[in-house]
Amino acid sequence: MSKFQELGLNEVLLSAVTDMGFETPSEVQEKAIPVLLEEDTDLVALAQTGTGKTAAFGFPLIQRIEADSRTTQALILSPTRELCLQITNELKNYSKYVKGLNVVAIYGGASISEQAKQVKRGAQIVVATPGRMQDMINRSMVNINKIEYCVLDEADEMLNMGFYEDITSILSHTPDEKNTWLFSATMPKEVATIAKKFMHAPTEITVGTKNSGSANVRHEYYLVNGRDRYLALKRLADANPDIFSVVFCRTKRDTQNVAEKLIEDGYNAAALHGDLSQNQRDMVMKAFRTRQIQMLVATDVAARGIDVDDITHVINYQLPDEIETYNHRSGRTGRAGKSGISIVILPKSELRRIKSIERIIKKEFVAKSVPTGIEICE
Ligand code: ADP
Ligand code: MG
Repeated sequence: MSKFQELGLNEVLLSAVTDMGFETPSEVQEKAIPVLLEEDTDLVALAQTGTGKTAAFGFPLIQRIEADSRTTQALILSPTRELCLQITNELKNYSKYVKGLNVVAIYGGASISEQAKQVKRGAQIVVATPGRMQDMINRSMVNINKIEYCVLDEADEMLNMGFYEDITSILSHTPDEKNTWLFSATMPKEVATIAKKFMHAPTEITVGTKNSGSANVRHEYYLVNGRDRYLALKRLADANPDIFSVVFCRTKRDTQNVAEKLIEDGYNAAALHGDLSQNQRDMVMKAFRTRQIQMLVATDVAARGIDVDDITHVINYQLPDEIETYNHRSGRTGRAGKSGISIVILPKSELRRIKSIERIIKKEFVAKSVPTGIEICE
């Protein structure tokens, strides 16, 4: 009997698990799935990025939904359109052998009336960004007063992005007796407030150490003179020809500039930031996912929650203003048990910030020197 079977998943879901190539459940899946399948309970689950939270709520949700009924029974809130699409795709994969189950994604930057139509046609599960959901509620385009399950996914990210008002307002349109499942990598005050306000005696699950980074990530910094940042980036790329990385910059302008320079210099790079159209962003993400792009230069907001497998390096071209953000950045690598490297290109003047980051991630950085041209030629 497979481990997934022991968790209580039914035959159709087990077939999908096999197709997806999942062999053993991750820790958060092992802890959450039996509870969510068996009990009517609220749940708070804390687990780092890349630990398989989508399946932890996705499988129980699909097993419990009545696919024969066309009523919207579950609402999943998620911080960004990229994540909404990603979750929707995952849920479609999990439910590929479940007849009649419809999952619809609702997010900004695409036709609201088209999305409303899709929901009306009979979507049992709706995956939405808080902003677009609120908009649809205001326009009476969607009815969530019969939902039985509400999932708050990446709750810390949603609150970081300023969705507190939208989330509280959306939840006030849902029935009291539903089950609320909250998933988050960290537990800042705002998340605790939401949990307290909207949940009744939730079951709590914690995987790993609260707020600390993934165990599989090695952290390194390369000291440079401020004006040599770009040169250091190129050297790192040259020294790692198979690099598959996200390069974080602080502003949209720097993001665009660094990407343009890399492209000029012959690297497979592209920019991802909020000034691009939704269509452009989708194209960039697709090219990155399919490895036509090796270096995705991105702002924090644009890169939030991106789950692309096998990212080898996260590069902090500039450190973020908020130290917590470093944790989110480095969480893009070292996912699903794989190892990864998180690199900071660091001007000497910012050396002291490394200490503060070390305190948060509870790990030490390795100080490295930028490879010289000669080493790369060898
Ligand atoms: P999180 O939401 O915790 O950041 P995801 O749900 O996005 O993590 O999962 C991260 C990656 O791990 C995805 O590519 C997913 O397909 C994969 N994954 C999830 N569960 C398993 C499993 N049990 N075995 C193998 N891979 C898994
Ligand atoms: Mg997730």
